[in-house]
Amino acid sequence: MSATSSSTRVALVTGAGQGIGRGIALRLAADGFDVAVNDISRSADKAEAVRDEIRATGRRAIAVVADVSDTEEVAAMVDSTVAELGRLDVTVANAGIAQAQLLLDTTAQEWDRMFAINVRGVFLTWQAAARQFIAQGGGGKLVAAGSNASHRAAGFLPAYSAAKFAVRGLTQAAAMQWAEHGITANSYAPGVVNTPLWAGDPEGFAREAAKIPLGRVQEPSDVAALVSYFASPDSDYMTGQTVIMDGGLTYN
Ligand code: NAD
Repeated sequence: MSATSSSTRVALVTGAGQGIGRGIALRLAADGFDVAVNDISRSADKAEAVRDEIRATGRRAIAVVADVSDTEEVAAMVDSTVAELGRLDVTVANAGIAQAQLLLDTTAQEWDRMFAINVRGVFLTWQAAARQFIAQGGGGKLVAAGSNASHRAAGFLPAYSAAKFAVRGLTQAAAMQWAEHGITANSYAPGVVNTPLWAGDPEGFAREAAKIPLGRVQEPSDVAALVSYFASPDSDYMTGQTVIMDGGLTYN
């Protein structure tokens, strides 16, 4: 199959300049997807580097700058993906932030920023993608970043935990509303993943990593393997799930 075959499927991954999103973008490209690599303007060079890595493998790829908390930028991100890569089949709302904090010190601004990126960002990304899926016909696959904190709060991450619980609720509601269009919605719930997200809290990383029953931290490629499944026909009968994959830290 040529890289420009009309049967080539297209994936969009937000926050894909580094960390888990980068791992997902590279894995989906290896699986045969053409990929739109999103990040914010400050990290445009990182998104472009991931785009170039994918192009070097022979797949088509674009870098697309957008802040996932902004309605117009998200709509433009989906529009340019479709304009340049032809269609949209899988959308991974991965972009997110984390902040270790004490509830007594947390400001309303910090709370709102957490929810703007980690919850509104998923809502806007999925809404824009679902509109495209419905316009195309034939369904589509929505994926988002939850966390094991979607199931059991991390006490040192209160706003983050509340936001990730919200992603699990949104995942269930989206599955219910969009099933009739052949759209599935599932989220991944990782544990302690080796990414720059933890750069500001190395002690927290070491403390949480020491608790992992399987005895090693999670790599972006571990998460990408689960997303590869969500993006494949093998998961066609799964929807509304926030799937824990954290080395045995959390059970539901
Ligand atoms: P990371 O900080 O390494 O990467 C996040 C990326 O998102 C960055 O490239 C950043 O520029 C981008 N981003 C931030 N705000 C954005 C916005 N408004 N619009 C678009 N892009 C934006 O983080 P990561 O560890 O790769 O985490 C990815 C996702 O996985 C997050 O949603 C995170 O909450 C979740 N997660 C991470 C872990 C972990 O241990 N690292 C565990 C569970 C869940």
